[in-house]
Amino acid sequence: MPVKHKPQRSCVVCRLKTDKRDLIRLVIADGSLMIDESGKMNGRGAYLCQNKECWMKAAAHMQLSRALRRKLSDGDRDYLRQMTPS
Ligand SMILES: [Zn+2]
Repeated sequence: MPVKHKPQRSCVVCRLKTDKRDLIRLVIADGSLMIDESGKMNGRGAYLCQNKECWMKAAAHMQLSRALRRKLSDGDRDYLRQMTPS
């Protein structure tokens, strides 16, 4: 039997590789950072896992910004802090 392939993605902060559905996709839409709940939004996306620390680090460091090839604005950072899983 062939092994069923599940799409895998990595968290941009901790590099944890896991099933795409267990990660949260972030995209830049209309110039600001948004969570892509459908996973199908256009634009350069980056994935974060559900680990709170990764969200804090994403807001504070460069990994997410680098993955999205865009400098994060203060608004984007606030958004990340707001959306941090508890
Ligand atoms: Zn992570």
